[in-house]
Amino acid sequence: MTLPAFTYRAMPARVVFGIGALDRLGEEIKALNVARALVLATPPQRDQAADIARRLGAACVGIFDRAAMHVPVEIARAARDEVKRLGADVTVAVGGGSTTGLAKAIALELGTPIIAIPTTYAGSEMTSIWGLTEGGAKRTGRDPRVLPRSVIYDPSLLVSLPPEITGPSGMNAVAHCVEALYAIDANPITAMMAEEGIRALARSLVRAVESPGDLGARADTLYGAWLAGTCLGASAMALHHKLCHTLGGSFNLPHAEVHTVVLPHAAAYNAPAAPEAMSRVARALGVDGAAAPGGLFDLAKRCGAKLALADFGMRESDLDRAADLALAAPYPNPRPLERAGIRKLLDDAYFGRRPA
Ligand code: NAD
Repeated sequence: MTLPAFTYRAMPARVVFGIGALDRLGEEIKALNVARALVLATPPQRDQAADIARRLGAACVGIFDRAAMHVPVEIARAARDEVKRLGADVTVAVGGGSTTGLAKAIALELGTPIIAIPTTYAGSEMTSIWGLTEGGAKRTGRDPRVLPRSVIYDPSLLVSLPPEITGPSGMNAVAHCVEALYAIDANPITAMMAEEGIRALARSLVRAVESPGDLGARADTLYGAWLAGTCLGASAMALHHKLCHTLGGSFNLPHAEVHTVVLPHAAAYNAPAAPEAMSRVARALGVDGAAAPGGLFDLAKRCGAKLALADFGMRESDLDRAADLALAAPYPNPRPLERAGIRKLLDDAYFGRRPA
């Protein structure tokens, strides 16, 4: 078989991975030649931030613990002012995509380097994508300045991630991999990472949900999430991510949970136009070649995740508007977007029907 022509763009990444990797935070501070860290976190992760601050000792100048979902611009401004007031020369973001997102908003404006310490599977730490929400509207963009300079993946930090967040967060990572496999800029390198990412998550996510303290499962899932984040950073996302951005932004639905519900249906919609991608998904899930969408649904179900948009209080009468919004400014997608097909996809996701 002759390989098709492709372009692959790698992002610079320095990753410290493993149980106990957090012990190497001091080395990362030295390697970056910085000395005044502001630790960022969400309010519930204040204790984790305090532990990081203790480890940093004199190299910590403060904690800002007001990170929030989708980076509200007022919070980004308050954090930026704190960086300036304290003379911080690095941010240390301990948390999920919300906290990494706050560090990115600061970096976008001030160029402050980021050390990311992920505690969910969102994958933002491996991308140069930033987002900011102002007046209810979210703006996003790509800028190399916001890519973390060092990422410390320590599975022991995920032991406290509750099962109801673990499942959807892991499925969010699986979604990055699935879309990378049929992205307009798909290539053999991202495909290799995407398939391996799904495989690692599929073999360990249910265990991480059922036994949150299983460090082997946490390590496997975090490895998969790292690969997934790399795929997200290196590929143009398609219909699934467009639908999730639309549903999250316009109907105020939770990020990882919406990814979990929509993924099997987006995969089913795209399956006829992306057979090779689907056979890689199926192989990674360990299911029959044609069963990738159903396999994704079953994985989410085994994680105990909610499977229907209706479970999140969305109204059935909003589905027509959701379909219209999904068709406006579409992302490149392997199967052309047809309104009837998208409306049916949304209907299936609304009622949580298992794809055939
Ligand atoms: P999140 O960061 O909001 O975390 C969800 C909740 O889990 C929070 O309350 C947090 O405090 C808590 N939490 C996180 N880790 C924990 C732990 N180990 N123990 C206990 N509690 C913990 O959610 P998320 O799904 O990680 O990120 C979602 C956000 O990230 C969205 O705004 C999304 O748009 C963004 N995102 C951006 C990118 C990108 O490339 N820019 C990629 C993925 C997601």
